[in-house]
Amino acid sequence: MILLIILVIWGLFGLLGGKVVARKGYEPKYGVILGLLGWVGLLVALLLPTTQSGRELQALDYEIAHGPKRANCPNCGKQVEFGSNDCPHCQYVITPTGHRS
Ligand SMILES: [Zn+2]
Repeated sequence: MILLIILVIWGLFGLLGGKVVARKGYEPKYGVILGLLGWVGLLVALLLPTTQSGRELQALDYEIAHGPKRANCPNCGKQVEFGSNDCPHCQYVITPTGHRS
């Protein structure tokens, strides 16, 4: 019974390690390998640097969670709430095409 619990926990580490490295942009199979090492592999997975594709993935997650990032005003270059019609800094009217209306 104890052995079964150990195996289940071992498997959970494998899943967790796979999730961690997949989020960092690595192929999930590497996470499974690390997960098989138990908590040591999970630690290694957490310490691995995030790849470029991992950063893009996290940026995408951020957009899904918080909405699109702010856009820059085409006139003054300051940050404007994405989708707003005019710039709060210079009152420049922003149309969907980005031209002055
Ligand atoms: Zn502006």
